[in-house]
Amino acid sequence: MLFEQSIANYLSLQPFEYINTEIAEDGKHRLLHLKSSNETEDVQCPFCNGQVHICGNYSMRLRDMPVYPGTRQNVEANYHRYRCQKCSRTFSEEIPFKYPQTRMTERAAS
Ligand SMILES: [Zn+2]
Repeated sequence: MLFEQSIANYLSLQPFEYINTEIAEDGKHRLLHLKSSNETEDVQCPFCNGQVHICGNYSMRLRDMPVYPGTRQNVEANYHRYRCQKCSRTFSEEIPFKYPQTRMTERAAS
């Protein structure tokens, strides 16, 4: 579908890739699945710039701007949590399309 393709393109500009869209049987709920495509080797510790390894996989559901009238749309983003091999601190990957301090996408917030 053209529309899903445009969402996929928009979101794939970030280090997240589009997987698929789940549509509820009644057609009123759409859930877009995305996953982080960051390579662990490319991630550095924000505290000491050390190398990191993945210490967990999480997902966060964000309210998104509905595209079709009378529907709800959410985005489920799978992201990583990392642990620094040098200073042992942990941190989560940023979800760049998440509006700060909310559980919404930026375009839903605006
Ligand atoms: Zn560190």
